[in-house]
Amino acid sequence: MNYRQRELIYEGKAKRVFACEIPDRVLIEFKNDATAFNAQKRSEIDGKGRLNCKISAALFELLELKGIPTHFLELHSETFMIAEKIKVIPLEVVIRNIATGSLCKETPISQGTLLTPPLLDLYYKDDELGDPILTEERLKLLDLVSVFEIEEIRKITRSVNNILKEYFDSLDLLLVDFKLEFGTNPSGKLVVADEISPDNCRFWDKKNSDPKERILDKDRFRQDLGGVIDAYEEILKRIEKDSSRAT
Ligand code: UDP
Repeated sequence: MNYRQRELIYEGKAKRVFACEIPDRVLIEFKNDATAFNAQKRSEIDGKGRLNCKISAALFELLELKGIPTHFLELHSETFMIAEKIKVIPLEVVIRNIATGSLCKETPISQGTLLTPPLLDLYYKDDELGDPILTEERLKLLDLVSVFEIEEIRKITRSVNNILKEYFDSLDLLLVDFKLEFGTNPSGKLVVADEISPDNCRFWDKKNSDPKERILDKDRFRQDLGGVIDAYEEILKRIEKDSSRAT
């Protein structure tokens, strides 16, 4: 379908959301802007928008095929996707299979520890507050979602992790951790929203044991390791190789 881009509804750090002629749908543009550490570190990385858009589209398609509800409808161009217009739930839902990042900064758990079962952390999505981690009681106090919805969010996140972990394992990649965002669609259904890309997932190359070289995600930008685009290209290459094998 040919969607026409209308007014800008929202601009975030890595994406812009535009209205289109269908009121319940939006156009999401993936930008080349890269930010880390709550936007204290910023840069523009040529080609990142295209890669994240295509990777996210492929992963949302995989999840839909496996019965996970998402906001994704279709790719519109290389940097734009069509999605359902959702009401965003201000939560960042992080699930971790291997300990790294903030978990190792904030606790004595050492880098690379296998987390079985995977650890699910909830954060309050608010840049000004620096996305603070939520305890069970603070979550209740904030009253952001119903008890039923939060259980659904946890259940869906664990299913997404199982699906993606197995999928990336088949591409010789370790899915270390990732962050999901949720929303409610126009019919009130809970769906996975935002993006699923090397910007919000950590991937380690199973074929490489060097702790820096194996990183194929935004940590290359966070840690100034260079080769950010090459890493993102590698993720898309493995996904595309897999889908050409499947057809
Ligand atoms: N993450 C994200 N947005 C955030 C914070 C984290 O997408 O604002 C993702 C991050 O890419 C990683 C996972 O969530 O895949 C866990 O991140 P962590 O809590 O370790 O934070 P970080 O070390 O990135 O500050």
